[in-house]
Amino acid sequence: MFALRMSLVILVADVWAKTPFMSEYEFSRRRDELIREEREYAGHLRELTADEKIVDNYLEYLKWQEFIATEDKFLPSVGLEGVLDDIVNSKVFKTLKKFPKGGNMHLHENHILSKKKMLDIVFASEDFEHLHVAVDVPESKKWRLDFFLNPPAGWEKVKGNPKYTKEKLLPHMTMMGSMTEFAKVNPTNSARRWEEMDPMFSRLGSKVIANVNIKFKYLESYLKAALEENVQYLEARSSISSRLYTLDPDPKYNSTGGKRYIDETGGEYELQENIKFIEGFVKKNPEFIGMRKIVNSYRGASVSEMYGDMEKAVRLYHKYPSYIGGFDMVGEEDKGNSLLYFMNDFMKMYDNTTGKSLVPFYLHNGETNWPDDLESSTNKKDPVGTLQNTYEAVLLGAKRVGHGLGFFKHPYLLNKLKEHQTAIEICPASNQLLGYVPDLRNHPANNFIRMGAPVILGADDPATFGYDHFTVDWYEAFMGWGLRLQDLRHLAINSLKYSTMPKEDINAAIKDKWEPAYQRFIADIKKEACAVDFDASTNAPAISRIAPREGPMKRSTKVYVFGRNFEEGICKGVRCKFGNAVVPGSYISGQHVSCNVSGLRRRNRKGAGKSKAVGVAVSVDGGATYISYDGQFTFVRNL
Ligand SMILES: [Zn+2]
Repeated sequence: MFALRMSLVILVADVWAKTPFMSEYEFSRRRDELIREEREYAGHLRELTADEKIVDNYLEYLKWQEFIATEDKFLPSVGLEGVLDDIVNSKVFKTLKKFPKGGNMHLHENHILSKKKMLDIVFASEDFEHLHVAVDVPESKKWRLDFFLNPPAGWEKVKGNPKYTKEKLLPHMTMMGSMTEFAKVNPTNSARRWEEMDPMFSRLGSKVIANVNIKFKYLESYLKAALEENVQYLEARSSISSRLYTLDPDPKYNSTGGKRYIDETGGEYELQENIKFIEGFVKKNPEFIGMRKIVNSYRGASVSEMYGDMEKAVRLYHKYPSYIGGFDMVGEEDKGNSLLYFMNDFMKMYDNTTGKSLVPFYLHNGETNWPDDLESSTNKKDPVGTLQNTYEAVLLGAKRVGHGLGFFKHPYLLNKLKEHQTAIEICPASNQLLGYVPDLRNHPANNFIRMGAPVILGADDPATFGYDHFTVDWYEAFMGWGLRLQDLRHLAINSLKYSTMPKEDINAAIKDKWEPAYQRFIADIKKEACAVDFDASTNAPAISRIAPREGPMKRSTKVYVFGRNFEEGICKGVRCKFGNAVVPGSYISGQHVSCNVSGLRRRNRKGAGKSKAVGVAVSVDGGATYISYDGQFTFVRNL
C-alpha cells in the first residue's frame, strides 16, 4: 500500500515538475514528445519512404478537397442510404478502390455479390423460366425469389411478367432500396433497422444461390468483384446446411417443387466443390490469395442444436484445414441468446490437457447500443444483457470479435483484447445502417486503432444492405477517422495477419502477393500526384504564423509553419530559409509544413549577444521561389 501511494505521488510530481512552460521552444518540444509517445502507444506508425510520403500527402490533399466540397453534408456523418452515389463518384473513393486492402474479413457468404449482378446471373441462367417471386404470401415473405418447376400457392412466374423486370425487382432485394421513412429518421433504432434488414436475407439469398446452375457463377462473380476493388482475400461466415440442388421434372420431386438435392453429405459436397473452384480461381488470378470460411450457427438455436453445430464445426475444421477457419454464431445479438446461455456447450469445446479450444472462435460480439444492465431480448430463459457477451469473448479466448462496438464501454476488457492480440472486425457501413453508429466520425474504432488494439475491416452484408463496394467502408474510415497512409497500410496488413490462415501462409501472402500490389499502388499514385499542377489549381501560398518563434543557439529546433495552399510542396519538396541558411523542411498538409532549423554556427554565435533574430521564408517548390513570413525567428543563447 505504501509503495503504491509513493508511486502515485511521484507520478503527480513528475507532471507538475514540467510546468510552467518557460518558453515557446519548451512548449513546442514537449508537444512533439507527447505526439511521439502517442504514436508509439498505437504501435504501427513507422517512418515512410520518400515515395510513400508523397502518396500519403497526396491522399491527404484529396481528403481535404473532398472535405471542402462536402463539409455541409459530410458524407460519413449522414446515412449511407442518402449519399452512396456521392461516395462512389468521389475522387477519394476512386483512389481508395485502387488501394490493395488485403482481405475483406467480415462477410456473410450469401450476401456478398451486388444484387444487380445477381439478377443478371439469374435472368441469364438456363433455369430463368422457373424463377418465381412470392406475391400472395404473408408480408414478411413477400418478394422472395426461388426456383420451382411447380410453385407453391401465392408465387408468380418472373419471366415475361412486366411487373417483375430486373429494374423493378432490384429495390426490393436490398435494405437501402426498401428503407422506410421511419428508419431514415430514426438512425439509432437498431431493433427497427434489423426488422427492415431481416426479410432481405431471404429475398435473393441461399434458396437461389443453392441452385447448382447459379452457385458457381455467383462465387466467381464475387471473387472477380473483390479483385476489381483490389481485395485479394476473403473470409466469410456461412452455415454448412445449405444443400445444392438441380431442377428435375421427375414426379418424385414434386414435394420439393422440383428440387433434387444433389448433396447427400450435409453440405460437405458443396464445401469440396467450393475449395476446388477457389483453387482454380487462384491459378487463373495469381494475385488473389484465397478465401476461407467460418462455420456459423444461429443465436436463436437451442443449447442442444448449438452443440450439434459446434461439433460439426470441429469435425469440418479438422477435415478441411485449408478452408474452414473457425466457428461463430450469427443473427441480431440483442434478440438472440447470450453467449453465457451456451456456457455448457462452450465448456465441452476445450481440450482438457492443452486447455485449447477444439475449434477457434471468431465471435460476433458487442454489437449493441445498450448498457450491461438493459436488454431488449424477450427470451425468458436468458435474461442477460447483450453487452455482457464481451466477458465471454475474453474468457473463451476468441481469436477475433465481430464488430466489438461495445468494448469501448469496457476499457479493461478492451485492454485484454489488445494484450491477447484479439482482432476486432470493424464494419463501418453495417454499423451505421443497423443503427449503432449514425455519425461514423464517432465510431469506436478510432479509439481501438489509436490505442493499438488490432483492427481489421469487413463489409458484413454489402449486397443485401445495397451498397455493394467494400471500398465504401474504406472511404468512411479514411474520411472520418483521421487515417493516413500508415494506418491504411496497417489495416491491410492486419487483415492478413489476423486471418484464419496458418502463419506460414500469412507471411507468404503478405510478402508475395500484398507487398507487390502495395508497391505498384505507391508507384502509380506517386506518378499521378506529381502530374498535378498544384500551382495552377490552388491559390498562392501564404504563411500565417510559425511556432515556436524561438530556439536555442546551439541546438536545432523543429519549427512549424502554418498557412494555406502549400500543396505544391507535395512533390517538389519543402525548403526553409532562416536568415541566409537554407534548411530542409517537411510537408505535413496544405496548411502545415515543418522546418528543421540548425543552431547558429560557432562564429555567428560569438557576436550574437543574448539573442539573434532572423527572417524566415519557406519554399514549396523545391527552393525555386520563397514566401516570406512577416515576423522573425530568434536564436536564444540560454535556451
Ligand atoms: Zn456479421
